[in-house]
This record gives sequence, structure tokens and C-alpha cells, in this order.
Amino acid sequence: DGPVIIVGAGHGGYQVAASLRQAGFAQRICLINDEAHLPYQRPPLSKAYIKGSAGPDSLMFRPEKFYQDQKIELISGRAVSIDRAARKVLLAPGETLPYGHLVLATGARNRLLDLPNANLPDVKYLRILDESEALRQIMPTKTRVVVIGAGFIGLEFAATARIKGLEVDVLELAPRVMARAVTAEVSEYFQARHREAGIRIHLGVQATSIGAENGKVTGVSLSDGRHLPADLVVVGVGVLPNIELAAEARLPVAAGIIVDEYLSTADPDISAIGDCALFASQRFGGSLRLESVQNATDHARCVAARLTGDKKPYDGHPWFWSDQGDDKLQIAGLTTGYDRVVLRGDPARKAFSAFCYHGDRLLGIESINRAGDHMFGRRLQAMDRSITPEQAADESFDLKSALA
Ligand code: FAD
Repeated sequence: DGPVIIVGAGHGGYQVAASLRQAGFAQRICLINDEAHLPYQRPPLSKAYIKGSAGPDSLMFRPEKFYQDQKIELISGRAVSIDRAARKVLLAPGETLPYGHLVLATGARNRLLDLPNANLPDVKYLRILDESEALRQIMPTKTRVVVIGAGFIGLEFAATARIKGLEVDVLELAPRVMARAVTAEVSEYFQARHREAGIRIHLGVQATSIGAENGKVTGVSLSDGRHLPADLVVVGVGVLPNIELAAEARLPVAAGIIVDEYLSTADPDISAIGDCALFASQRFGGSLRLESVQNATDHARCVAARLTGDKKPYDGHPWFWSDQGDDKLQIAGLTTGYDRVVLRGDPARKAFSAFCYHGDRLLGIESINRAGDHMFGRRLQAMDRSITPEQAADESFDLKSALA
């Protein structure tokens, strides 16, 4: 009972507010927004937005009128502390908001590079709209970028920078790109594609320092002794979940704000969702913290349902995508922990899927330019079904028959 206060107006926060109203929640909803924009979509920041010329409005979930019509109070500011006993949130610069229920949707922030000269203006990150906008503005004035980190965001940016005519070097400490997230087969495909596009990918190396003259970046030194010239550095070395607000309120935290299978913290009046939440999953048998739009929005819907009387454990089916140059990667399921990978389609034809199995159990499917396989994977999971590795590998096997 009472107002719902949502801290963080990103994918999860926005969706809680929208879903609450959709479900008929009639009390006060406040969405605390510490960015100077209406709530917006993050994925295009490293994809279409940075490539194109569309204005920031193209990213917004909804226009301002939606929030007015729905009586969702967008409050500019930052939540700085929670008084759990009094059920109040304190904002900077000073307002106090009472809550019936508090939703922490604080997301994650860039992991910063701890190197000499890493705070120069031409060392950039890519998490928020202002950072994407800044990169879009300066890219035409730059000729050579070193991208540190070959995760999704680093590679998406690298592909765009190359299309825009920059010389691009990508550094990755692991022996292959996107190593924590995808199979070796998919890493190899993307390495080859990016190299074909003229991007130099350096694996198993680390940046040791950033060179500068008169405050301007001149290059990056590597752990193998080489030095790569550059007038721009883009850092994509992962994120840290924003757990401090919860921790300071003495809520249990670890690699995220700890929540149960209902996404409730140890305090029944406080939930946590999206990138900041380490949630208990029966389906996957353990605690998970995921960084995806699907995870944030499905978490949000689950909490909104609980707050409007439909309490169910969270049981979303993970899916994800990444656009790199002309290639679209889509992932259905969680592919970590596989011991067998079966390919369907042909990497040489630039269209294939990697079906990942643990024994005979299908964990997930990584599809490249095979949207049909991806949608099949999502539908199969929703039905809690599987197909055998032999069926997956056999292109004459009709996937639709497994959904009948
Ligand atoms: P966020 O969307 O990060 O929102 C959290 C918000 O809370 C932020 O605005 C933050 O500033 C604010 N906040 C934090 N602390 C406070 C506070 N104390 N007070 C007030 N506000 C606060 N996912 C995909 O599935 N597919 C993709 O292709 C994809 N591409 C991506 C590309 C980029 C460049 C980035 C950065 C992410 C991408 N993601 C993608 C990941 C996806 O965007 C995130 O998983 C998703 O945004 C998480 O939603 P969230 O609500 O948990 O956090």
C-alpha cells in the first residue's frame, strides 16, 4: 500500500512504471531519473544512434505527454539514501519521498580504466546517451581509434567506427572476442568478419598506458611492448552494478543487490531489478545477474504484477542481441556451461546457429543472421521443449515440427 518509488529511469525503471499503470495501479508512482533525458533505449547507443544522425528523441520510450497522462511523476535527481524504518528515500538535492514500495532499478556503470592518462577527454566510454552523443560528435574529427575490450559494446562501436572510415585497433585480454558470452565458433566468426572489414584485433594483450602530448591522446602501449598510435580511445571493459544505495541501507549485496525468486530484497518493501539485481533462479539453479533488455523489462513486469496482486516467481527466458557491422547475433537461452556445440547452417555463407548442449540438454542457441532459428529457440524454451543435437545439425529436420 502507498506510493511506489522507482530509483533509476532506465529500461527496468520505466517498465515498472508503465506496467503498474497498465495493471490498474492507482496510487502515486515516482520515477527518479538522474539523467537529463526522458527515459530512453540504451542498445542503439552503440548501434543505430552512433551510426546515424537521428536526434535523441528517436531513442525515447515515450514522449513527455505519456508520463503526464499516466500520472507517472518523473523526478529529476539522484536517490542518495534510504531510511528503511521510516520508509523514505532521500534525493539529492534534499527532497524526501515516502514509499509504500521501493524498486531499485539503478543499473550498472562503466568499469573505469585504471591507467595513466585514462581521464583525458579523448578517452571515452559508452553507457549513457551523453557519452554516445559525445562520441558521435567527435568521430568525424578523429582518424585512429583504439578500442579497449572486445565485448559486445566494444565490437559494436569498432564496426561503426570502421564504417565511418576510422582506422580501428581492438585490444582484448582474453584469447578470443566476447569470450565470456559466446561459443568459440561465434567468436571466430566475428573475429574473421571484423578483420575482413579492416579492423585489427589484438588478442591476449592488455593496454598498459595511454600516451599523450599537450593533453591529447597519441596512442596506447600494450603489454607485449607494442605501441599503437591513436587520437581516440574507447573503453568497453565491462560494468559494475550500482549496489551502493542498497548496501548503505544494509540490504544484502554481493555481485549485485541480492533478491529472491520474487525479486524482493531482504526487506519486503524493497525490490531490485535489472542489471543491478542478483536474483535467485530456480530454472537455472543459482544466483544470476544478467545485463540485457529482456532481463530488465521482464523483471519489471514481474514486480509490477506482484505489486498489483499477481505474485509469481520470476521465470523469464533470457534472450539477447548484438548488431556488429552487417551481422546480427541473437542469443536465446543461457549458453554458459555447455559441453557440446552443434552448428546448423554454414559460417561460410554468413548464416548459422550454434546450438549449445550440456549432455543432451539444449541450453541455448547463438544465431548469426538466422532470425528464424532464434525465434524458434525462444518459442521452444517457452514450451520447455528441446531437440536433439542430431536434429539440430540436420538442416532437413523441420524445426517447426518440434513446436507443434
Ligand atoms: P539502466 O537501463 O542502466 O538504467 C539504470 C538507470 O538508473 C540509469 O539511468 C542510471 O543513471 C540510474 N541510476 C543509478 N543510480 C541512481 C540513483 N541513485 N538515483 C537515480 N537514478 C539512478 N542489452 C540487450 O539486450 N541488447 C543489446 O543490444 C544491448 N546493447 C547495449 C548497448 C549499450 C551501449 C549499453 C550500455 C547496454 C546495452 N544493453 C543491451 C544492455 C541493456 O541496455 C541493459 O541491460 C539495460 O539497460 C538494463 O536496464 P536497467 O534498468 O537495469 O539499467
